[in-house]
Amino acid sequence: MRRNLNYGFLLGGMNMDEKKLINEKNIRLDGRKLGELRPIKIEAGVLNRADGSAYIEWGGNKVLAAVYGPIEAKPRHIQNPTKAIIDCRYNMAAFSVGERKRPGPGRRSIEISKVMSEALEYVVFTEKFPRAKIDVYIEVLQASAGTRCAGLTAASVALADAGIPMIDLLPACAVGKVEGQVVLDLDKEEDNFGEADIPLSVVPRTNEIVLLQMDGQLTIKEFEKCMEMGMNACKDIYELQKAALKERYAVFTEE
Ligand code: UDP
Repeated sequence: MRRNLNYGFLLGGMNMDEKKLINEKNIRLDGRKLGELRPIKIEAGVLNRADGSAYIEWGGNKVLAAVYGPIEAKPRHIQNPTKAIIDCRYNMAAFSVGERKRPGPGRRSIEISKVMSEALEYVVFTEKFPRAKIDVYIEVLQASAGTRCAGLTAASVALADAGIPMIDLLPACAVGKVEGQVVLDLDKEEDNFGEADIPLSVVPRTNEIVLLQMDGQLTIKEFEKCMEMGMNACKDIYELQKAALKERYAVFTEE
């Protein structure tokens, strides 16, 4: 969510003219290089009652994903006789952001839930479960920019943990422009004061883009650079997703 650049004074109490987000050596405020991700930790199978679950820590983000289903869709009139419905609900906890967030769904979370449902629907073999519903809950416990990407990354791991057949996992990552430079995985300050923010998600096996949103302005060349950087980052995130599932599976076989 980009905010008005005049809010620069919010950045550590300093004016944006005094405090730069990227230094002359192309190092960002948190010490990262332009194309570097924040630290990411993924754990699969963290909730006993859900059919599948995953927890992700991504920079300052902490997000839980839980899957219930497939179950018979009710009321019956919502059923699709040819495939399952994926009902993804993204929710930000009231305590997840600095300024208490009003509980309950708002325009933003409804939009995020919709784009996430559509992305997940593309990778799940929904036709295997006619008349069914698969609920995917995404609970943002702590937010620091990039929560939809963290949520989607965790959600596909939770679906795999639930044993739901899928084409592939869905890694997601944001890329954008800050102080004229294309950067990967914007943090909160970069998201607020940068020039562009593009969350994207890719099916690694086919290289298809299933989520792409853009806020801000970019030249075509910058956009292409963003795509390349984002697609490459998704490959790295994909490895972390697979490692989390392998670790979960190893524990499972030991039990
Ligand atoms: N945010 C907030 N209050 C809100 C919505 C967002 O403080 O009601 C913050 C939160 O840290 C979030 C960031 O703004 O991660 C960027 O929000 P955006 O809408 O761009 O979505 P995200 O980057 O989290 O997918």
